[in-house]
Amino acid sequence: MAGPSGPGSGPLPADKQSLKHLAFFYATVCAVCDDPCLSVDGLSLLKTCGGCHLISYCGEEHQKQHWKFHKEMCIMLKHTLKKMGANKIRGYRINDDLEERNDMFTENAFGFNTYRYYLYFNVRKQIRRSLSTAESRMILYPRMCNICYSNDVKQLRVCSKCLCVSYCSEDHKEKDKDRHSKDCPELKVCFEIDKSLLEAVGFGDIPLSDPMSADFLQTSCLEKIKKYSESLLENLGTIEGRVLTDVMSAPMTIVHTVYSLDLASNKVLSVELVGAGGFEMQYFEKWEQLLHWLPGLEKLTLTFVGPDVGDFESNLKLCGSCISRNVDLKIVRSSQLYHEFINVQSRPDLIVAFNAGFTENIQSKIKDTWKETIPEILKRNCPLLVTSYTHKESKNDLSRVQGLVKDVNVIMECQKNIFSASKPLQDWEQHDDETVPQVYYKNYYLFTVRS
Ligand SMILES: [Zn+2]
Ligand SMILES: [Zn+2]
Ligand SMILES: [Zn+2]
Ligand SMILES: [Zn+2]
Ligand SMILES: [Zn+2]
Repeated sequence: MAGPSGPGSGPLPADKQSLKHLAFFYATVCAVCDDPCLSVDGLSLLKTCGGCHLISYCGEEHQKQHWKFHKEMCIMLKHTLKKMGANKIRGYRINDDLEERNDMFTENAFGFNTYRYYLYFNVRKQIRRSLSTAESRMILYPRMCNICYSNDVKQLRVCSKCLCVSYCSEDHKEKDKDRHSKDCPELKVCFEIDKSLLEAVGFGDIPLSDPMSADFLQTSCLEKIKKYSESLLENLGTIEGRVLTDVMSAPMTIVHTVYSLDLASNKVLSVELVGAGGFEMQYFEKWEQLLHWLPGLEKLTLTFVGPDVGDFESNLKLCGSCISRNVDLKIVRSSQLYHEFINVQSRPDLIVAFNAGFTENIQSKIKDTWKETIPEILKRNCPLLVTSYTHKESKNDLSRVQGLVKDVNVIMECQKNIFSASKPLQDWEQHDDETVPQVYYKNYYLFTVRS
């Protein structure tokens, strides 16, 4: 299959082309050639798919070419929207038979968020597999006005700098000026990272570079991690630098916590990661760093538990130094929910919930599995480290734990994680308050508790 060429990108070979259809989606550009098709006055001339209204093309040729990739999703979306009693992503009601879920059709941010999440959840359920990144983005990041969520595509003007937001009018663009002037450069980075990861093909090709040095026993490893982290932060101007902070945030944050909990001199360590998914499983070789940064370890058990864990290959190849050290390394994976998984024989030293979002599903009124999981975690009688995207979310996550379990000991209050990721992500959720940033970072805040 010949790849089409678009602005700033050469034709992609066939394997990259099919990866693209899985991994890359921005509603503001042609799904095949990435052309935003802007008219001289900034209006988008993209043609939107008449079936689902969620994907656009520069013209008929690319729409036809893309149909084999889009067909299944298009039919599923159309079917699900009809069942929900709506005809478009914006949620215009076409009948009043559905008495429940009225909140989804309200004209505010909450209604719009609930609506998209409900659509996402139902499509995923019906398609009986997890959705690809591109498919998820199609639902969660539709082309719409960033202020009023209008999806009248004929009126929409896209921000030509970041290609991540659109406006229905000059008025709404002006209304968003303060917030977007801060978000725009970071959103531009989001687009560029997604695109260049795709062109580099191989999630997993990025070198993870903090080799075990000969003097690792002499220097304080915590100092070593801080130096390593500083070296990553010096490279934030590059795509690789940004991605590395995201990849390495997980092991850095765990080792930092292990030090603050005084577990760093343990010879045996068992860490259980709950609600694990892409953040934990991608670039899996990053976990070898735990052995480099905890040089006294003789046995390390890493347990990954979560519904998405099974989607990822995970092999940990050790470097020469680690092999000669003869560490007993055990990796356990489970696609169960943690409270279903719990292995009474194992005794974790630390349980970690990265980017937990304990309260996310309460708001969306979608099945909330943390309600059962959190009390079971606290019964394990070991510290629980929780990270969140924002300060507010971190406080909510902590209150949720305190609401579900009596007499929780807060070991570390909500605070900024010095090893947070610096790779920006666009928030799919809208907020009625226009001062809330639309960009967030993984592992940004953290707290630690135990029962
Ligand atoms: Zn095109
Ligand atoms: Zn469609
Ligand atoms: Zn608007
Ligand atoms: Zn912008
Ligand atoms: Zn090693």
